[in-house]
Amino acid sequence: MGPEVGELEKKVARFCGRQYAVGVCSGTQALFLALKSLGIGRGDEVLTTSLSWIATANAIRLTGASPVFADIGDDLNISPESAARLCARKVKAIIPVHYTGKVADMKGILGISKKWRIPVVEDAAQAFGASLNGRRAGSFGRLGCFSMNPMKVFAGLGEAGMIVTDEKALYEKIAILRYNGMINREICVEPSLNGRLDTLQAAILLERFPEIQKTIAVRKRIVGWYRKLLPPEVCLPAEKPGERDGWYSFTIRTPQRDRLRSYLSEKGIETQIQHRRLMCEQEPYRRCRGESVMASRLVREVLCIPFHEKLSYNDVRYVAESIQSFFS
Ligand SMILES: *Cc1c(COP(=O)(O)O)cnc(C)c1O
Repeated sequence: MGPEVGELEKKVARFCGRQYAVGVCSGTQALFLALKSLGIGRGDEVLTTSLSWIATANAIRLTGASPVFADIGDDLNISPESAARLCARKVKAIIPVHYTGKVADMKGILGISKKWRIPVVEDAAQAFGASLNGRRAGSFGRLGCFSMNPMKVFAGLGEAGMIVTDEKALYEKIAILRYNGMINREICVEPSLNGRLDTLQAAILLERFPEIQKTIAVRKRIVGWYRKLLPPEVCLPAEKPGERDGWYSFTIRTPQRDRLRSYLSEKGIETQIQHRRLMCEQEPYRRCRGESVMASRLVREVLCIPFHEKLSYNDVRYVAESIQSFFS
């Protein structure tokens, strides 16, 4: 908890247009502590999406609550229509995930939140710097959660995370929860765990912070190359008016995904499938409520193709031409 932690918190809060930020040791811990600070626990349900990294469901479950999995739309994000159908009295919070770095349909989600008077906690782990209609990811819900693990676009050289909010009471509660539920070195007011952000990671993130907009711009330029060079057979992620993606991954879609993947592998091109098994299909969550018709279909079509800031135009052309030659 060196001074770099507080310095980074201030910068991230301001960047997201929020009053407060609490640095924590991971994105998973950010989600867990955010839910704990709202008093979510046993007997409660938390509505989220079917398609995310498993951390989203685990954070819900480990508060004692049960996740409810809404279906997704074409943008791979939570479908507000599905979420609205699944909402019920036991649902005490909604966690939209800004998947692949695209901000979810927050108008729809905030509508449900208002109707049922339940808080929104954003899983913005993949979306640092993304925005929708001028509002940054992490600034829509009562709490916004980020991961700065080395895979993310704004990344440390180890585990790190952050929670942002405008509410002083939540901020103070989370600061206590981050420190084993201690209000000082003597007095514990609630059982919790060590969730502190390491000073070294905070220092590294402070160094990288001024570059983040440039980093996203570089990624966006690569997206432009892909858009120009990829054949019409593959479905590309759309960036609609008002959307500014954080471009965490470049996820294309095709019903011939598996054959394309082996073809690319033979050409020396690594691809990934995120996440082949939906959260609701994982053993601990099989009996949870939910809808996943679209998610089951889309997850068979998604493919993350090479995407990072050091790709050259020729690299992108090689990938795109290989995909083209597969289809021809
Ligand atoms: C990375 C990620 C997390 C978890 O973050 P960690 O820092 O790895 O704990 C949670 N949700 C999503 C959507 C993520 O991509």
